[in-house]
Amino acid sequence: MNINLESLWHKVCQGLREQLNADVYARWIAVIIPKRLDPDKLILSVSNDFYQTWLEENYLPLIRESVNRIYGRDLTVQFEVTPVIMPAVSSTPSVEPSATRKPAHTKKTCGQAASSELALNPKYAFGSFVVGPSNSFAHASSLAVAQAPGKAYNPLFIYGGVGLGKTHLMQAIGHYVLTQSKAHVHYLSCEALMNEYIDSLQNRHVKQFRDKYRSTDLLLIDDIHFLTRTSALQEEFFHTFNVLYDAHKQIVMASDRPASEISGLEKRLVTRFEWGLVTELLAPDFETRMAILHSKQKTLNVALDEDILTFIALHICSNIRSLEGALLRLASYASIYQKKISMDLAESLLQSIIEQEKKEPVSINAIQRNVADYFDIRMADMTSKQRSQSVALPRQVAMYLCRSLTTASLPEIGAAFSKTHATVMHACRRINQKIINDQQVKQIITKLSKQIDEHKLSVPGK
Ligand code: ADP
Ligand code: MG
Repeated sequence: MNINLESLWHKVCQGLREQLNADVYARWIAVIIPKRLDPDKLILSVSNDFYQTWLEENYLPLIRESVNRIYGRDLTVQFEVTPVIMPAVSSTPSVEPSATRKPAHTKKTCGQAASSELALNPKYAFGSFVVGPSNSFAHASSLAVAQAPGKAYNPLFIYGGVGLGKTHLMQAIGHYVLTQSKAHVHYLSCEALMNEYIDSLQNRHVKQFRDKYRSTDLLLIDDIHFLTRTSALQEEFFHTFNVLYDAHKQIVMASDRPASEISGLEKRLVTRFEWGLVTELLAPDFETRMAILHSKQKTLNVALDEDILTFIALHICSNIRSLEGALLRLASYASIYQKKISMDLAESLLQSIIEQEKKEPVSINAIQRNVADYFDIRMADMTSKQRSQSVALPRQVAMYLCRSLTTASLPEIGAAFSKTHATVMHACRRINQKIINDQQVKQIITKLSKQIDEHKLSVPGK
């Protein structure tokens, strides 16, 4: 195939950017520098061996698959460590390597994301957050915390499914506090925290890392469920938490599930995360969805007919991000083609989003719960290292169902089970074989798929 290194990698990046969520892409893919293209090999370079290991364990199959598809034949993909630091958010592969370390963190970031610390998005303020029964408690708690950091509820723990407003509320707290005071605010995702910590270990500036987070007035950690990926960080975070808590500094965390259901989270952390106020974000009801659409419509400066808004709100129920996506699609179409959106047009433009919505109500967590319930094992067994057949088979069944019933990638499923993508692949292969050879396994899979699909979700709390 007549393609050079740069354009091959550029195309691979384009594809991966569509497949991965923006944070993951910026963190793990944008940091890769294409180094060399040999007749049978693609060499990719990263700045330290932590990246190398992580990429090899989690993203190599995905990258390889994409490289081979674009290149047109099989290449071996290899990582090597070149100790230069690249800005993590660069999205094109052609950025010049820089010999000097980029200052990794900014205290009050705005607009563009910094290398390992997420910027506060000006969009995510209290003013643009629409309140309804599904989120009023979380909203009120967040506002109370923003108005009296360290005094009202500490810590504040917000949990809920994807796209329901966790990040929005956390950042709203950050904005509010920054406009009211000169407080030191740190907002970052758990993954960014982990990377910064690993960096600090490698570069022997753990003390700076500690000082920075232990002297902050408001610490907002998003997606805290990823804390369990490294035990060293759990330990570090435990001490940071204690120092901040004792000094009456505010801690806010967001997670996709309650602390007690984050498998692998140390008990002392579970307890601490529940010390203050725990609040859940639920899927919005119809009225709230309509109110959100009206509000976003104003921001986007479009005016869709009421029956079209109703159509969107009726069909997209589970996730506010998809609701926004639907509106944005119609708004862009109307503005590009200068055309009024009719009902027929809306239906056809939104077909894929609506189909996605129908397919997507199943979460990995719900599958794990259903399977755990069915086999009468604990939720914690889903992520445990135990290999006995009584636990291993249900776990493999759950991984298989995650693969077939959700759109999650292998690394994402792996992470939810505290395993690598390779384990998930192995599990899927194994269950596939069993379905062919073992009538009983086939029946179990059919029954569970049906049950999960029909939302007959079991009661949480195993
Ligand atoms: P999460 O962090 O829970 O996955 P986000 O906070 O990223 O979800 O929200 C997804 C999108 O939905 C964002 O664009 C956010 O602004 C929007 N959103 C969520 N909840 C609301 C709400 N109550 N009012 C207005 N917009 C919302
Ligand atoms: Mg979020």
